[in-house]
Amino acid sequence: MSVEESRYSPKFNSPSADITFKSSDGVFFRIHRKNLEVCTEGFPPSDVVATEDEVVELTETSTTLELLFQFIYPQRHPALDTTPFDILYPLAEASEKYQVFPAMNICHIRLRDMVQQHPAEISVYAAKHNYPYLVSHVAPMMIGMDPIKVAQILPPHLIVPWTRYIQEWIRVHRQTTLVLTYNGRCHEDRKICDSRITNENAWQIFAFSCMRKLSSGIQTLRALDEVFDVAQDWKVMKDTFVRYELRANAPVPQCCQNDLAAWRKKIDDAIASIPKFSTFL
Ligand SMILES: [Zn+2]
Repeated sequence: MSVEESRYSPKFNSPSADITFKSSDGVFFRIHRKNLEVCTEGFPPSDVVATEDEVVELTETSTTLELLFQFIYPQRHPALDTTPFDILYPLAEASEKYQVFPAMNICHIRLRDMVQQHPAEISVYAAKHNYPYLVSHVAPMMIGMDPIKVAQILPPHLIVPWTRYIQEWIRVHRQTTLVLTYNGRCHEDRKICDSRITNENAWQIFAFSCMRKLSSGIQTLRALDEVFDVAQDWKVMKDTFVRYELRANAPVPQCCQNDLAAWRKKIDDAIASIPKFSTFL
């Protein structure tokens, strides 16, 4: 195989093909126009001009095109279930750009499964290409992102809905982050904390610790495991008071565990009451 031949995609090199595309990294793809007409709406792209030898240059890489063109032929399409994000995302963008309908469908389903790892990129994709349900799915994960960055990546028509959505999270934060109704002297139900030692009790220390973590912003509402992890606070308290009444291996008092769980449930319930982002559209 000559060097020139090696630059042709082995999968897309049919002699009966009637249009040739060139990837950004210099690989040629011979494709049948009639398949493009049936499966896509944007090929060949109107903003590119074929060169003299009828080669249409595209901005996508050969990796992207190799996958994309598989969706325009009558064959089993790639499942994309093990495709990593850095390959899937440009494929999803390309399938939207050229309106390759079979690829658009599977790409947005696969991206939906990756929102935990890539909320920012997927929110942009979902907003840009009008997948409101996916924007709703990813919106809670964007709570932790820098608001300036979110405003920059969202298209203008989503800024007001996003602001209204954030207002709901701020409301929940304001209504649920403060406890210590009795200044920490006892539990929220007025019962004395089992750990009470002189003027100290564990509930007061736990409550201050959790409130301090929550006070850094609404993004903490998305990290409640971390917020309500009081292991370190308990260790410090035991280290301080072990000579008095606390045994070194004593677990977090049940009364405190109950109050922490009740507080957390109140926050979880309030978060569950926030309407989906799509209802603000
Ligand atoms: Zn207690």
